[in-house]
Amino acid sequence: MQYVKGVGPRLAEVLAAKDIRTVDDLLHYLPFRYEDRLNPRSVAELRAGEMATVIAEVRNSGLFRTRRMPIFQLTVGQGRTRLKCIWFNAAYLHDRFQAGQMVALYGKVEEDRDGELQIVQPQFEILGDINANEEGGAGAAEKEAEKKAAASLEIGRIVPIYESAGQGKLTPRWFRRMIRWTLDNLNPDLPDPIPAAVRAHLSLASLREALWKVHWPDAGESFTDLQSSRTAAHIRMIFDELFFIELGLELKRREQKAQTGIAFQLNDGVREAIKKILPFHPTAAQKRVLKEIATDMQTSHPMRRLLQGDVGSGKTIVAFQAAIIAIENGYQVALMAPTEILAQQHYFSARQILEQAGYRIVLLTGSLEQDRKREVRRHIAQGNAQLVIGTHALIQDRVEFENLGLVVVDEQHRFGVMQRLKLMKKSDDARVVTGLRPVLPGEDARRSTEAEPDVLVMTATPIPRTLALTLYGDLDVSVLDELPPGRTPVITRSLLDERAPEVWDFVRKQIAGGHQAYVVYPVIEENEERELKAAQQMHRQLREKIFPNLHVGLLHGRLDAGEKEHVMREFQQGKIEILVATTVIEVGVDVPNATVMVVEHADRFGLAQLHQLRGRIGRGAAKSYCVLMRGSKVSEEGERRLDAMVRSNDGFQLAELDLELRGPGEFFGTKQAGIPSFRVANIIRDRQLLEAAKREAAFVISGPNAEISKVEIDRALREMRSRWALSYGLVEVG
Ligand code: ADP
Ligand code: MG
Repeated sequence: MQYVKGVGPRLAEVLAAKDIRTVDDLLHYLPFRYEDRLNPRSVAELRAGEMATVIAEVRNSGLFRTRRMPIFQLTVGQGRTRLKCIWFNAAYLHDRFQAGQMVALYGKVEEDRDGELQIVQPQFEILGDINANEEGGAGAAEKEAEKKAAASLEIGRIVPIYESAGQGKLTPRWFRRMIRWTLDNLNPDLPDPIPAAVRAHLSLASLREALWKVHWPDAGESFTDLQSSRTAAHIRMIFDELFFIELGLELKRREQKAQTGIAFQLNDGVREAIKKILPFHPTAAQKRVLKEIATDMQTSHPMRRLLQGDVGSGKTIVAFQAAIIAIENGYQVALMAPTEILAQQHYFSARQILEQAGYRIVLLTGSLEQDRKREVRRHIAQGNAQLVIGTHALIQDRVEFENLGLVVVDEQHRFGVMQRLKLMKKSDDARVVTGLRPVLPGEDARRSTEAEPDVLVMTATPIPRTLALTLYGDLDVSVLDELPPGRTPVITRSLLDERAPEVWDFVRKQIAGGHQAYVVYPVIEENEERELKAAQQMHRQLREKIFPNLHVGLLHGRLDAGEKEHVMREFQQGKIEILVATTVIEVGVDVPNATVMVVEHADRFGLAQLHQLRGRIGRGAAKSYCVLMRGSKVSEEGERRLDAMVRSNDGFQLAELDLELRGPGEFFGTKQAGIPSFRVANIIRDRQLLEAAKREAAFVISGPNAEISKVEIDRALREMRSRWALSYGLVEVG
């Protein structure tokens, strides 16, 4: 940013904090709202209850000290009409206004106690006063000229309002001027990176036009469309952003398809082996999905498939079956889980199901003793181990396989596209293990001529279709949309804390009936220490006071691996009857005999997370119960979440609602979820544009043809690559 007029290193830093590093970023810093200063409301027409922009002259102002706080009052007028504005706790405003100044005010019009109109805490701008808070550096004459030009940007038009930056140091007005200057100096022959045919398909504005109008809308533009980002200019900007993401994903997908993979044989012997391990009849969905996977595995291209299935839909056995196909063909399989508990659990069931059938399985996690680790690695390297189960440590350390044929990544929901890419960047071994490459789409990644292993990614997060398109656009998708038979839906209740005694009674009864229970306590990262203490305290109280005759265990993330394993095993074997746990049990834990889950402070969890948690019960034939405990003070949103949980057992429905309530970032567990963070698009609002972007990306890559030239395609791909490089951190910005 430093080569833009007036931006020194200090400002560059402030801007970088807003993700503005290039001129392009600056141009994509869109107004979050607009003010109609072309037709501002006259003071006389104002009505209580409306949001309004008013331009008026300062009449007087003053600071009043009440007992509780200083109040700043400003009176503005137009002719004979007057309007009062007040700000609480705003002593800092006392010398900002002078009689005679023109000011623009924006806020909600209200009636005060005497029935007079006022605006409380309006946003304001003193028009024509451009010295305040800004970094200058220009000469005096130039400054004067600038003042005039700047003033014309502030009245008599629809004015863009930008979020300030650097604790108010960079005002909306600063951005207005800076962006205007940049636009004025934009190369007039700026080629549009979106091919003409694509623009024509969707009647999109050109880049140049969109950039101008999104910052400086025409006088005739619909104000509602502006505020809701629905003008032609906005739509172009949004599409633009989505299109280049989709283009990258589409390209990656094609490249992956074009690589050499392993063509596994699926003869009668293999079929027999797959069937033999089944401890139950597979559901129709399981059969269908296995067929999709097996078909991929038989082709000579590497499989890149996402298996989506709600909690308890039975993904594990499908993964085991896929593993057998690879193993029977003489290849090794790696199964990666996000937590040690889950890895151990997979190991546990793999031994029950696969070891009995004669397959050789090893567990490799970070916590193994060094000696044991070395030994396990040797087994892997020599090809003795056929199925390697581990945490992601598998990809962090240099694990060498003799001939890896299939990689299964379980509970991938925490790892989105971007994170997958980043993970890969860390080490080349990751590339080997996951088969996903640390390269930008379109770059030549081939380093060896060896066949790429197949990759199956499994997730329980019911990702709405359109989101799956962005997050996993480079993968094919299979869905397990059926639960195994004999499950009765979990009965869910939301209760006030004061009813805890009844709840504990109920738990006691279930245990007397031979079942087990979870008590889940939220431990949120920010307050980890304190909350962990609370969970431990809870455990002590339950063990000593409430269930003195029962076995109450404790499981949390800070236990070392051995302890975790021990606790899990005891719970699995029924020696522990009540397991007090933090969300470490959220993913994948499978103890069908547990029929009750009590969630403390349930309102603190997100919906997707609550659903995951609840998925730990209702896994056997017995009726299961989920009790969501909450205090009397719950936010409205928390209330809605609990309500939704009580009403619905459907992961997809809950996910959609969660998305709406919290937005995609939170839904996927904040930024680290690897959802690309969008500058202008909003994947919920802009679903249709996302679909269109996907379609058009495929169209572009299938070219050139009569509609689209090679030059245009190359330009689009170049643009895509530079955006992927900059935005997704694959290339450090110098
Ligand atoms: P998830 O999809 O959440 O990983 P799991 O693979 O852990 O689900 O399966 C949940 C439970 O359902 C396990 O106890 C598993 O043995 C059982 N299960 C899976 N498929 C079937 C089936 N077709 N019939 C009966 N039980 C099944
Ligand atoms: Mg699972």
